[in-house]
Amino acid sequence: MEKAETPLQEVRAQIAKACKIARRDPGEVTLVAVSKTHPAEAIEPLLIEGQRHFGENRVQEAQGKWPALKEQFPATVLHLVGQLQSNKAEDAVELFDVIHSLDRSSLVKALAKAKEKAGRCPECFIQVDVGEEDQKGGCAIADLPALVAEARKAGIPLAGLMCIPPADTEPAPFFALLDKLARENGLPGRSMGMSGDFETAIMLGATHIRVGTALFGARG
Ligand SMILES: *Cc1c(COP(=O)(O)O)cnc(C)c1O
Repeated sequence: MEKAETPLQEVRAQIAKACKIARRDPGEVTLVAVSKTHPAEAIEPLLIEGQRHFGENRVQEAQGKWPALKEQFPATVLHLVGQLQSNKAEDAVELFDVIHSLDRSSLVKALAKAKEKAGRCPECFIQVDVGEEDQKGGCAIADLPALVAEARKAGIPLAGLMCIPPADTEPAPFFALLDKLARENGLPGRSMGMSGDFETAIMLGATHIRVGTALFGARG
């Protein structure tokens, strides 16, 4: 009998399959394992299996878990996928390698200041409010060109755009919209797709998929 696959192996196989259908190179799609709410003991097995990109949604929670794990696995790339308060910008710049939630002018300013102080800056995705839902954060579509320009002027390295489509609706139109906006703004990265829809996101050009539940199980 064959050994049961781990969740990571299963997700990797699903990514490979989606890439094949989309005629894309799996190397173009970065799997970000979203480990929020899960303790270090749940994260270590994935690190041992070779997973290197991880996502957290709270600065404080990540500060508790990741410094020790990063020491053990120095090649780890840590992504902040949750909303960022301006007063946490300095802490975020210290700990994270990539920020997916840059969504407003005040945060560009806070990150520019933190960058100056730290002498480093994470790559940033600008989060776009594709569903026009205020509560999830994200920059309004109409304000995106100005925010991109402001971030570029401030020397913030821009990786691309990120979105969280509205729950309980077909996500494909929102992924297609994010892809179009990224193209219009000359940005290479598209952070889109979660456990329930990452295959669709890959078909529509995702470069970074953020997967929690499919790797770690349900959050308590
Ligand atoms: C929690 C979270 C994810 C992962 O969601 P799953 O459905 O568990 O895969 C992805 N992106 C963001 C921004 C999140 O907060």
